[in-house]
Order: sequence, then C-alpha cells, then structure tokens
Amino acid sequence: SGRWVKAMEILKEFEEKCGTPILKLRQVADAMIVEMHAGLASEGGSKLKMLISYVDNLPTGDEEGLFYALDLGGTNFRVLRVQLGGRNRGIVNQQFEEVSIPPSRMTGTSDALFDYVAATLARFVAQEGSVFKPSPGRQRELGFTFSFPVVQSSIASGTLLKWTKGFSIDDTVGQDVVAELAKAMERRGLDMRIAALVNDTVGTLAGGRYNDNNVVASVILGTGSNAAYVECAHAIPKWHGLLPKSGQMVINMEWGNFRSSHLPLTEYDHALDAESLNPGEQIYEKVISGMYLGEIVRRVLCRMAEEAAFFGGTVPPKLKEPFVLGTPVMSSMHRDTSPDLKISNTSLKMRKAIVELCNIVATRGARLSAAGVLAILKKMGRDTVKEGEKQKTAIAMDGGLYEHYTEYCNCFKDTLNELLGEEVSKTIMIEHSNDGSGIGAALLAASQSQYL
Ligand code: ADP
Ligand code: MG
Repeated sequence: SGRWVKAMEILKEFEEKCGTPILKLRQVADAMIVEMHAGLASEGGSKLKMLISYVDNLPTGDEEGLFYALDLGGTNFRVLRVQLGGRNRGIVNQQFEEVSIPPSRMTGTSDALFDYVAATLARFVAQEGSVFKPSPGRQRELGFTFSFPVVQSSIASGTLLKWTKGFSIDDTVGQDVVAELAKAMERRGLDMRIAALVNDTVGTLAGGRYNDNNVVASVILGTGSNAAYVECAHAIPKWHGLLPKSGQMVINMEWGNFRSSHLPLTEYDHALDAESLNPGEQIYEKVISGMYLGEIVRRVLCRMAEEAAFFGGTVPPKLKEPFVLGTPVMSSMHRDTSPDLKISNTSLKMRKAIVELCNIVATRGARLSAAGVLAILKKMGRDTVKEGEKQKTAIAMDGGLYEHYTEYCNCFKDTLNELLGEEVSKTIMIEHSNDGSGIGAALLAASQSQYL
C-alpha cells in the first residue's frame, strides 16, 4: 500500500544518512586525533577537554588494606568496600551496594544530591561486618568515582565543568565536587577521607591495569560514553607542573563532547539534541551511548507513525513521550525476542522493519565508537605492528550498553578489527571489566593513602 511505501521511504532515507563506510570512520578518527592534540595543547583548546587526571601511576598489585569507593555517574550509584591483599594476593574480599538515584535528586540542589549520596554511604558503612573493620585509629579512605567533566587541581579535588546524562543541578557547576561530598559527609557525621577523585574511565583504566599489565586505555559505553588513556607527560603542552617521575599521565578525554562534520547526523539527531537538557553539547555521546539510542529509534518510529500511519490510523500516544523507549527495550526489539516487540498488533513485516531500524541506529553507534578507539590507538602509536616487536595492547571496556547489547558489542569489535586489519587486530585485546571503575577508584585511593 501507499502507506507502507512511504514508511519504507522514511526508513531508507534514514539509513542512507546514517551510513558509516570505512573511509568515513577513518575521517572521524583523524578528526578526533586533531582535537586530541588541540585539547592537550591548551585549556579550552578543543571540544575535547582532554582532562588531566593527576593519575601518573597506575596500580601495581602491591596495594593493600581496606578501601571504599563510591561510583556516581548515571542512573545508578554504587558504594563498595574492597579488601586488597597486597602483592600477588589480589582482592581478598569485596562487597557492594547499588541504589538508583531518584530523578528529583538529579535536577534539584547540590546539597540534596550529596546528602543522598552521603546517607547511602553512611548506611553502607554502618552495616559493615567484622571482616571489614578498619584497623583501630585508622580513618576510612575513599575513592570517589564521579563520571562528569571535572577540571582537577590535584588527585583529590576538582571543579565541575557541567552536568551531562540527564543531571542538571546549577549550583554544583563551578564547585569542587570533593568539597561538596565532604560537607555532606560531615553533615551526616561520617568520618571518611576522600583520597582520590576519579572519572569512571580513569577508574576503569586503573582496575583494568590491576588485572592486566597491557591495559593502556579504557572506554565506557553505558548511559553516556567516554574514554581515557595513558599519555606521555611531555606530550601535554598545557601541563605546566613538574613532569611526573613515571613520565606518564592518564588523560580523561571526555570524548562524549566530540563533534565533527564527518559524523553522520540526521534530522532526528538534530531534533533530539535541540530538545535535550544540554543542546549543542555531547554530540558524539548522543549518537553512540545508551541514554540516546532508544530515543533516536522512537523519533524515527514516530515519524513513520505520523506520516505513513505505520501503526494504523492513530499514532500510539505513548510513542510521543520522549525517552519512553529505552535502549534495553530497543535491544530486545532488535533481537526480536519479545513476541509482541513491546508494541501490540504488529505484523511480521512491521517487526522486520523495526528490527532494521534498531540495527541502523545500533550499527552507526557501534561503528562510530570503534572509530574513537582507532583514534586513541593511532595517537598512542599502537595501530601498527613494528618489525620484530611483540607489543600487546589491551583496552578495558565497561558500561551497560557494551555489556548487554550483544549486537552493538559485536558490531563494535568487528568494526575495530576491520579498521585495524588482521595483523594489528591480533595485538589488541578488548577486555570487559565488570565494575572496574569502582575497584579502580579503591585502588587509586590505596595508592594515595595517608598511611603509606
Ligand atoms: P552508567 O552508565 O549509568 O554508569 P551502566 O554502565 O550500567 O550505568 O549502563 C547503563 C546503561 O546501559 C543504560 O542506561 C542503558 O542505556 C544501557 N543498557 C543496560 N541494559 C541494556 C540492555 N539490555 N540493552 C541495551 N542497553 C542496555
Ligand atoms: Mg558507570
């Protein structure tokens, strides 16, 4: 029928605009490398902040003792305690608790958010069993994973540049988030020292290195997306301090804010961005990460419903609500595992079109994120195999999107292999680190302990 033809036209046109041929991916990677250099050269020199983490040494395996971590950065927030065994003993014991952040705390006041965080942490500490008691007279020490762009002034302080991923609390911007948390802990009567402030990418990199010495970069594909890697200290012109002994510095790229004319963006992406909490920002994140993929699918479906009566005479009212179609639902539709695809009264033909739509959105995101990894590898000079060298490179990956969206994850890996070629691919390991960011923060707290 004419309606079906029109619906397929909308889908085809969307597919064409989402195209990510290899040549385009290479252009995206090269554009990212240009921005990486600019971001390292000067503060504010690029859309890529290339933030200095103050982590110039990564875990060695010698870390020992009881440490805490707190992971704030998305829909859920986690508290954990880790008993580190010291040389060759690894993690002796760990416990964690995960709570969701009430949406009202994501857009209220800074005190409301941090009071909630401190209260959860205090409850967690109060429930501590005897195996986890700190040594007498010793203050508890915490690694604080905070997955938003922060300009750090030391390993345990930093001011928030902006919120992302659905958080929007004006009075935190420009504040030291460590001081905000410390004040809330004090209000709660919780005696704990914040020993390290780390981005989740930096935590994941640290946790990954603890398990595998070849880990030199990390990527988060979750609600949002970001990456970190180990840079040579002398390749950071904007760093005016003493060069660290290690000669290295972990850089938090904040790659979610990358944008380039080479990114294949559609009218749906522009509309999503314009109506978002942070218009004009986090453009790369908005095409590759979990918070947005389902929303892009919803927007295309909405157009198909409105202009081609895809769901019959009326547009399902629910389909008009922003963010009702989450990426977990999208991935189950993509797999077509739910008999009704979460949408009732659909024919096989319609379901196939929906699977195709999900595939287009997931494929574009996964291929573009692989291009980002190529950029990092190229920047580090690890995208080639040198004669006679046996260099191995491992990248620690984390995030719910990577972990649960199989089609996305497979497409990401296939594309990276395609970009690198067979020989180089053999030297690159992609390692899934389950909750590496929390453990990584605890490890970095251990290396910053006041009792060393
Ligand atoms: P965060 O990024 O908030 O720290 P996670 O790393 O756990 O948290 O990622 C959660 C995100 O992962 C969700 O917002 C969602 O976009 C995505 N996700 C979770 N489960 C699935 C799934 N089954 N399929 C696709 N995406 C998923
Ligand atoms: Mg996370």
